[in-house]
Amino acid sequence: MDEVEVVCPACHDPIYIPAEEYDELVEGDVMECENCGAEFEFLSLDPLEVVVVEGGEEAFFVDCPRCETPIEVEEEGEPVTCPECGYTFSPDWSEIGEEEEV
Ligand SMILES: [Zn+2]
Ligand SMILES: [Zn+2]
Repeated sequence: MDEVEVVCPACHDPIYIPAEEYDELVEGDVMECENCGAEFEFLSLDPLEVVVVEGGEEAFFVDCPRCETPIEVEEEGEPVTCPECGYTFSPDWSEIGEEEEV
């Protein structure tokens, strides 16, 4: 059975969807990433375009300022260490808070 590879927009890990399941997807469908728990929506199927709608239950994502890897953050106010390059930084929490309020 063929599988369609979809790259999670949050963690950039590939997710494999059975072709028969993929055929039944419609624009606006939401899927949960098995790797990071983020939910993403299919904006378009041809070309394939996905966008994160929910970064997991209580977590959200910030991009590493050095290598731009999205990092899952569970605790607001704590410094974050990038699992890819080891860079530790403090995200701009006030900015993240503003985005959530809008
Ligand atoms: Zn993911
Ligand atoms: Zn990094």
